[in-house]
Amino acid sequence: MSNTELIRKLRAALKPENVLSVPSELVVYDCDAFTVERHIPLAVVFPRSAVQVAEVVRACSDHGCPVVARGAGTGLAGGCTPPPNGVVIVLTRMNKILDIRLRDAMALVEPGVLNLQLTNALSGTGYHFAPDPSSQGTATIGGNVATNAGGPHTLKYGVTVNHVAGLEVVLGDGSILQFGPVEDPAALDLARVVCGSEGTLAIVTKIWAKLTKNPQACRTIRATFASIDDASQAVSQIIAAGIVPAALELMDRGILDAVEAAFALGVPPEAAAVLIIELDGPEAGLDSLLEQVIALCRNWNPGEVLQAKTPAERELLWKCRKMAVGAVGRLSPGYMIQDGVVPRTRLPHIFRRILEIAAKHRVRIVNVAHAGDGNVHPILLLDERDRDLTARAKAASREVLEECITCGGSITAEHGVGIEKIELMEKLFAPADLRAMHRVRQAFDPASQLNPGKKYKTICQ
Ligand SMILES: Cc1cc2nc3c(=O)[nH]c(=O)nc-3n(C[C@H](O)[C@H](O)[C@H](O)COP(=O)(O)OP(=O)(O)OC[C@H]3O[C@@H](n4cnc5c(N)ncnc54)[C@H](O)[C@@H]3O)c2cc1C
Repeated sequence: MSNTELIRKLRAALKPENVLSVPSELVVYDCDAFTVERHIPLAVVFPRSAVQVAEVVRACSDHGCPVVARGAGTGLAGGCTPPPNGVVIVLTRMNKILDIRLRDAMALVEPGVLNLQLTNALSGTGYHFAPDPSSQGTATIGGNVATNAGGPHTLKYGVTVNHVAGLEVVLGDGSILQFGPVEDPAALDLARVVCGSEGTLAIVTKIWAKLTKNPQACRTIRATFASIDDASQAVSQIIAAGIVPAALELMDRGILDAVEAAFALGVPPEAAAVLIIELDGPEAGLDSLLEQVIALCRNWNPGEVLQAKTPAERELLWKCRKMAVGAVGRLSPGYMIQDGVVPRTRLPHIFRRILEIAAKHRVRIVNVAHAGDGNVHPILLLDERDRDLTARAKAASREVLEECITCGGSITAEHGVGIEKIELMEKLFAPADLRAMHRVRQAFDPASQLNPGKKYKTICQ
């Protein structure tokens, strides 16, 4: 079958208005938020049902052409960058909330529903969808499942896999399967295997999302520190004290400059780093827990400890944190965000190393971190038109991630491996571990039809 024939077949299956094949339209889908590597796809399709997804997958399989699922394209590791001669299956038109069952604390949603759309739909019910990536206003729940997304509040509530009761999926041969939603000890828990598989095992077409009861009360503070070292020592001590805040986020001076320019947060100029700490749970005992946390911070000489007094003040603090990456546009025309993890006790060390690596490669790096999880997000500022700078940023990125591995951590906490970190998989895992992953992939998708060249290139190609 020629490319023209395939496109004709896709148009017949989905209607012409749901298939793009003109280069000027395809260019929009040549990358995700990892913009330093791009490939123009053969076609882009917008199915509206699992049956249509299956038809597309089968047509592409007959044509010998790989497919990649795409949600909102906010991924930061090149997970939905099209494979060569690949077809992009965009799930954003499958965007209905199909059912909300509060008594079962569960919602059934299509993959293109935005994360915040579900939480907004639950407003006033006393429930919410707990995974809250900073991109939650734009990222899809299908994308959250595929990347096993985290967020500030996953420190206490866990990443996306903990909030998925079941999935409907399309496999590489076009079959439609359902895993869950009822917990069944007789079955293998395949929904959990698909979570975090970055579109390489199956295309998610429905999600039974677990809903979380809103906490009775919460306390949110912002503490400033004279150095990133002090701030990260405070994080390490809070965790070591056995306290599990709902969120424990760090921002350094570099990112604060961008946030100040964007939102006028009012952080004192002398602050080198800020922690945003949120505690939640039953009202009783929350204030004494807060005092304990503040006392631990005081061991590291915080400059100012400010408590949000109203929901509006709390919202402003979270807006500044969640919009921080967007504010980076005030510092440079482009950026690359890293996503390393280290044991929390190694946070001071990794921040020191990030500074050294930035100086060595002459790249400006600013930092945000889901610090309570040991998850660092150094943001490397670049301008893609400057090839030398981009190459130095890539080299610095790699060195940061290698350092995370050396510390006993990982190359990703939540953004996934994508194409960006594929070369590091061999550094992180033993050959036997990689072979086991490869065999699981083969069981789901023997022809490597789904998103080839992502996550485990070294064993699949
Ligand atoms: C400003 C900003 C802040 C961010 N903050 C966070 C954060 O706090 N935490 C976090 O975890 N991430 C964060 N991210 C990264 C990103 O938003 C998440 O990875 C998100 O889950 C991706 O969702 P998406 O809909 O954009 O997926 P896409 O980028 O479209 O796809 C991501 C991966 O999932 C696969 N995929 C998408 N949909 C499906 C599907 N239905 N079935 C199978 N595979 C699929 C794709 O093939 C790809 O491999 C941030 C990104 C940005 C730009």
